[in-house]
Amino acid sequence: MSQSLKVFLRSGRDDAVRRFHPWVFSGAIKKMEGPAWDGCHAEVFSNKNEYLGCGIYQDATIAVRLLAFAPERPTAFGPAFWREKLMEALLLRQLAGLTDNPMTNVYRLVHGEGDHLPGLIIDHYNGHLVIQIHATGLYRFIDDIAESLRTIYGDRLQSIYDKSRDTLPATFWQDKLPKGFLTGEAGAVEVIENGLRFIVDIEKGQKTGFFIDQRENRQLLSRYCKGKKILNTFSYSGGFSVYALNAGAAAVHSVDSSVRAMDLCKRNVALNGGEEKHTALIEDAMDHLKSVDHTYDVLVLDPPAYAKHQHVKHKAVQGYKRLNLEALKCIAPGGVLFTFSCSQVVDMRLFHSTVTAAAILAGRKVRVLHQLAQPADHPVNIFHPEGQYLKGLVLVVD
Ligand code: SAH
Repeated sequence: MSQSLKVFLRSGRDDAVRRFHPWVFSGAIKKMEGPAWDGCHAEVFSNKNEYLGCGIYQDATIAVRLLAFAPERPTAFGPAFWREKLMEALLLRQLAGLTDNPMTNVYRLVHGEGDHLPGLIIDHYNGHLVIQIHATGLYRFIDDIAESLRTIYGDRLQSIYDKSRDTLPATFWQDKLPKGFLTGEAGAVEVIENGLRFIVDIEKGQKTGFFIDQRENRQLLSRYCKGKKILNTFSYSGGFSVYALNAGAAAVHSVDSSVRAMDLCKRNVALNGGEEKHTALIEDAMDHLKSVDHTYDVLVLDPPAYAKHQHVKHKAVQGYKRLNLEALKCIAPGGVLFTFSCSQVVDMRLFHSTVTAAAILAGRKVRVLHQLAQPADHPVNIFHPEGQYLKGLVLVVD
């Protein structure tokens, strides 16, 4: 296509693209030909002029996000392209048993790089779709994406909400407004997950409204809760708390520093009839762990990402160590700790050794019962291991 930008890579910098890694870093580029602007169609070539793939250009460290690899060579990313890609994403969720499932109507439809759609997140909440775009260049396609979603979902679609205001930089919004609802409208949306009911606040809630990635880990928690005393720290809208109460926990304490999150948590606990055994605490999780003068049988630690970039990795590791140490001190003999990290730059190996360091400091015998990750609707492109962001350990503490 003549008006498309041609990006030529330096010698030896084509290997990653040939292995289907979806990013072209600006440092890998030898030269560019044609008009370059954020959102333009870019074709990527090797140093020897071989076509490798095409994607969307942006004047940034990640200069091209690849949406197609050779021999695929779409000349534009129009509605037909998005329809095909989004349909593929939906079929994967169908394969994983997440669509038309009477027990669960909340799933992630598009998980960025894991669905070969770098920079794009779409979550499905009982017929309501929330889009978050993470790359300014991609935002140009939001209307085509929405149109394709309308076609694919048809009558089952209630609303589409664009929540990219939270994920694109403030400078991007200076001369334009986020689109908000692109189709329909939604107030508080009620979803079911493994048969449990949750209110999702898609407009004002964190991320797209709900932490869908913990679905299977919450279900695993249920197995350990009957008759037990549970502490759920960083509880947000009460996911783990609702599962614990439903599984017959004797008492559940939820701790979150956000008033809004705790309101949602309380609503969700009530929606499932668990108020009697629930205590809601608006408090810093670390302060709470340090102040408890009793022990818990089961404890959940699900903090927000401590490290968003490589350069703060060390600090994040120290944070995880301190947090896990305090948690290990609060667990009754024979108790169970569910501990998580959603920092992309802290991989399972590092997380495991950090928790080991905390166990050494705590001076307790600790065994690993389960090693956890994100579920199938958050797939990881094997050539983009950075996509493996959620990791967890379930430990029994003697
Ligand atoms: N486990 C939750 C998701 C946790 S998200 C679920 O399954 O839905 C992280 C939560 O930690 C957010 O709700 C945020 O408000 C809360 N948070 C952040 N810093 C905190 C702190 N220092 N103490 C307590 N809660 C905190």
